Amino acid sequence: MSVLQIGAGGVGGVVAHKLAMNAQTFGEITLASRTLSKCEEIAKSVKEKTGVTIKCRSVDADDVQALAELINELKPKVVINVALPYQDLTIMQACLKTKTHYLDTANYEHPDTAKFEYKEQWAFDNAYKEAGIFALLGSGFDPGVTNVFCSYAQKHYFDEIHSIDILDCNAGDHGYPFATNFNPEINLREVSSKGRYWENGEWIETNPMEIMQVWDYPEVGEKDSYLLYHEELESLVKNIKGLKRIRFFMTFSQNYLNHMRCLENVGMLRIDEVQHNGSKIIPIQFLKTLLPDPASLAGRTVGKTNIGCYIKGIKEGKERTIYIYNVCDHQECYKEVNSQAISYTTGVPAMIGAKLIVEGKWGGAGVFNMEELDPDPFMEELNTQGLPWKVLEL
Ligand code: NDP
Repeated sequence: MSVLQIGAGGVGGVVAHKLAMNAQTFGEITLASRTLSKCEEIAKSVKEKTGVTIKCRSVDADDVQALAELINELKPKVVINVALPYQDLTIMQACLKTKTHYLDTANYEHPDTAKFEYKEQWAFDNAYKEAGIFALLGSGFDPGVTNVFCSYAQKHYFDEIHSIDILDCNAGDHGYPFATNFNPEINLREVSSKGRYWENGEWIETNPMEIMQVWDYPEVGEKDSYLLYHEELESLVKNIKGLKRIRFFMTFSQNYLNHMRCLENVGMLRIDEVQHNGSKIIPIQFLKTLLPDPASLAGRTVGKTNIGCYIKGIKEGKERTIYIYNVCDHQECYKEVNSQAISYTTGVPAMIGAKLIVEGKWGGAGVFNMEELDPDPFMEELNTQGLPWKVLEL
């Protein structure tokens, strides 16, 4: 048995630790990225924390042939993609070529336009069906656990779900004037894009940060939360039957929003190439170089996250409202795996998805979103792997 993980960034660090903590299930673990030293640094921490030795390799995942050769050599049961899936979904292509199961934590984004859509990943469905292999899309927290919370609610709490509000609160403080908790390119693109929610069969577009609502987060308190478009809405609209409205809210401080607006106003969030002193640069990529590396925030972030789903519907003829959520403490994550809670809450579900694939509990032929699988084994794993959840009846 073996597993291949591609990507040694903030999320990758957590996945590698958690794979090692479950080494009996995964067998030989290989961590690959373009920069070997990043993998080796993670492998060193994994060894210190868990005693498990993981292998490191250098690969450019944009090169389908090189990646397919690595997969053929290692013969992993599943490839975990926690690299940025920018280039033509090469990791999905390489898995197809080698008939190997695939898992990721985010949707594909064009380098030049941020679309946040599953279209291109879903387009692999027929080919994966024909090859008899399984692709699990969005096995992070949101998307990921939030999708599973919805399917769990549908299975155990409701006859019909009418509305879902996905709430993502990070009440952590890293002490820097401005930094992003995960890849700044993704984070800033997401936040500066127009908002969108789905109601009565239609998508309704909003201006960035136009809709603000104060939500009261258990164990955290009241926080300003802003309506954003988020990728899990696209699949949940298809897969949760009877749904009338679904929205996504994320908390931001005024300080964060002021910095972001300023960066946007001066053009630093642009994702197109601009000429600078005779070379071409992409402003948002340059900004990424300047900002603190999200992984470096780990040791200095204090506070908690609360991410969950506020769900309304009908059970046995009566109206019911629940909030199903997880609270995660930044410093506890750091003690366990040298990471902050944002990477932790993404990396743990990625490992759990891979574990269920390897154990044969989740599988099939084709491309799947999380809510299409039986939520029960995933929910059980969350409780034992570091992301326990609670359900509040409201
Ligand atoms: P980082 O940018 O920190 O890490 C990306 C990693 O991928 C780096 O190790 C990079 O290393 C590697 N990489 C990039 N391109 C290639 C390539 N062509 N070949 C091989 N390796 C490559 O990202 P994060 O860890 O913050 O995020 C990882 C993923 O998780 C992203 O897709 C993000 O969108 C997603 N995410 C999902 C969340 C969820 O809840 N679902 C929440 C947060 C993040 P190198 O350059 O050395 O190759």
